[in-house]
Amino acid sequence: MKIILLGAPGAGKGTVAKMLTKLDGSVQISTGDILRGAVQAGTELGKEADGYMKRGDLVPDSLIMGIMEKRLQESDCQQGFLLDGFPRTIPQAEELNQLLAKLGIKLDMVVNIDVPRDVIFDRLCTRRTCENAKCQAIYNVKSNPPQQEGICDKCGSPVVQRADETQEAIAHRLDTYNQKTAPLAGFYEKEGLLKTITGTSSDLVVSGIQKALGK
Ligand code: AMP
Repeated sequence: MKIILLGAPGAGKGTVAKMLTKLDGSVQISTGDILRGAVQAGTELGKEADGYMKRGDLVPDSLIMGIMEKRLQESDCQQGFLLDGFPRTIPQAEELNQLLAKLGIKLDMVVNIDVPRDVIFDRLCTRRTCENAKCQAIYNVKSNPPQQEGICDKCGSPVVQRADETQEAIAHRLDTYNQKTAPLAGFYEKEGLLKTITGTSSDLVVSGIQKALGK
């Protein structure tokens, strides 16, 4: 499947993407994960992105488009992909349309995961992430803590609160989402690709997507 997952930070895009990859071998492409990996590795990209990310601002469109142009041409994308956290602005969506046309790729659907703001805020404040860039497993101190406090079940690395998941940075990220990313729902509705699914259960979101795809 070739799907864009839209939704505020904390709406469950990453969880849903991981569940969908198990269905047909499509790959999850998370620009947030790619950028955090680059920051940790100290690459040029990471150095450029770091300040924006810590403040909860979006990194410049040109940096993101460079990443995505390369990533979408890697061989594992042929089976399908789930875009998680990209596009995040109208210019990114417009450039993505051009890129997909150039590569001869047609999207199946754009899914907008719609979750109330208070649920999102609570989820992000209690979210914890494995700091190993290759793992980045997600936990929640209330609903899904690691078996051993502060240690990732999957790889044994420390589980930490992201620098952009302080209350202040979260509030800023949600405002940025409302201003810059929420308008993408209208953009893809006009293209006839949008499917909005309201709900906090990732299982229900996944079954809604399967139903909409006729699977
Ligand atoms: P995420 O893990 O998707 O919440 O992304 C974490 C941070 O990475 C965001 O707050 C942005 O600073 C940056 N980021 C991720 N994806 C994008 C994107 N498509 N455009 C601009 N910035 C992005």
